[in-house]
Order: sequence, then C-alpha cells, then structure tokens
Amino acid sequence: MELQSKIRDVKTSQGSTDRWEWIHDKNGQYTTKSAYSLLTKEESGANGSTTFTRVWNPILPSKISTFNWQLLQDRIPTKMNLLRRRVIKDMGESRCGICNEREEDSTHMFLKCKMAQWLWMACAKWWGIKITLQEDCWNTFQNFERDLKEANLELLGMDGVAG
Ligand SMILES: [Zn+2]
Repeated sequence: MELQSKIRDVKTSQGSTDRWEWIHDKNGQYTTKSAYSLLTKEESGANGSTTFTRVWNPILPSKISTFNWQLLQDRIPTKMNLLRRRVIKDMGESRCGICNEREEDSTHMFLKCKMAQWLWMACAKWWGIKITLQEDCWNTFQNFERDLKEANLELLGMDGVAG
C-alpha cells in the first residue's frame, strides 16, 4: 500500500533507460557526504547534536559506536532477529537465554529482562545517578544522556553531557 501510493504519481517515458537516483542530493548522485548530511540532520536535539553524531563520537572506540548503532537500529543478533532471518527456525528457541520468560529481542535483552534491569540499577548505584528505563532503546539512550547531565556526570564520548 505504501509503495503503491509512492509510485502512483510517477510518470514514465518510453525510450529512456531506467536509472537509480539518490533523492537526497540535488544531482541525484549518492555520496557519503550527502548520506552523512542526511543522517546528521535528523532528530536535532536541544544542543544541536543528533543521536547519530552522539553515537558516532570519535572519542568512543569504533567497536562501541558500531555496537550502539546496531542496537539502536535493532540489528544485533538477538534470537528474534535470528528467527526473522531464519537462522533459527523454531519459535520455541527464541526465548531469552537468561530468564526464559520472554522472546529475546533488543528491548528485552537490554531493558526488560530482569538481569538487564538489575545491571542498570547496579550501574546507577555505582555512578550515583537515577536511571529511568524507557519502553525502547532509543528513548532510553536519549533519557540516559539527560539523566547523566542532570547528575552533572561526564561520560566518555557523550557530547553535551559535561557540565
Ligand atoms: Zn530475559
């Protein structure tokens, strides 16, 4: 349905060849610069930075940034993602490997699982801050930054956090 509505008004012409066009560049050419510009324009926060630029902070080791980005995009190999990609075939194998109470998706693994919540609270106690876990990883990430800022706690690699 969404695809049909998007192509409904597309006019075709006979005799011309099909070609790909990057709609986020005035010349229709994909460049990493135009993709970076697109990504960094999204979701500008109060301090002008975006989740994208905060995740890809050059101070963080690239493997940490990559993991954070994959988590926020729900691209980590949770059992539900493996089931979706048919790596595992049986729905019965998709339960959390720690609590075995729910399906293991990113939200459960990092926010909803009892073990994850225990770890978050232990870290909060260790850092001396209050952490409010949200319904999803994106909102938790954004609120986590706010929680750190309110506690005037600087965390390596998160710009806008230093007081
Ligand atoms: Zn669990």
